Amino acid sequence: MSHPIIAIDGPAGAGKSSVARALAERLGFFLLDTGALYRSLALLARERGVGWDDGAALGRLAGQMQVEFGRGPDGGRVFLEGRDVSAEIRTPEVSLGASHVSLHPEVRAALLPLQRRLAAAGPCVVEGRDVGTVVLPQAPVKFFLTASEQVRARRRYQELRARGVEADPGLILREQQERDRRDQTRSEAPLRPADDALIVDTSDLPLQGVVDRLERICRERLGL
Ligand code: C5P
Repeated sequence: MSHPIIAIDGPAGAGKSSVARALAERLGFFLLDTGALYRSLALLARERGVGWDDGAALGRLAGQMQVEFGRGPDGGRVFLEGRDVSAEIRTPEVSLGASHVSLHPEVRAALLPLQRRLAAAGPCVVEGRDVGTVVLPQAPVKFFLTASEQVRARRRYQELRARGVEADPGLILREQQERDRRDQTRSEAPLRPADDALIVDTSDLPLQGVVDRLERICRERLGL
């Protein structure tokens, strides 16, 4: 791929989504949210009666799944089999499902070519867990965002509340710890920074400041 790609990885609640969205807008790149693919698969599996623990069936489903990204008045939209699932894939239940389905090597293998195909469309900011290490290791700019457990859980809580979703802060923290553990200890593509990624701790930084810093680095490295 000859066009610029910016990889942003990190755990849930590190500010990845907001930072990636703002950065893509400032640079005029499109945003590829790879977590939305795992979330869409978890939702589709539940609707089709496929268990989140059935790796072989999930792998087949992932290979056939149609996901498209579009834009709406209030930001990016995700279409699964032609249906707008942007809100449905953000519920705590689907979050949990996504973290389960993403454990299966069959699922990761099936979603790899899809992610690369989507990233091939043009200059993009690609957000996920293993973008810099596995999906697009050739990306010229890689960031790994992180933040303390408490800060991440608080951000998740505020994000859900802002969307009108009822949430229990204690439960969010516990579920986040579970998801972190699964993401970091899975044998296939565990969550870790690429050797050449710049690690940014966002615990004490306003996200606007993080975006400014990342934009500066991208412009410098990419000669924009
Ligand atoms: O980033 P987001 O919270 O939307 O991701 C949902 C889940 O999908 C994560 O908990 C993780 O288990 C999985 N995921 C992944 N690899 C990616 C993106 C997401 O395993 N590149």
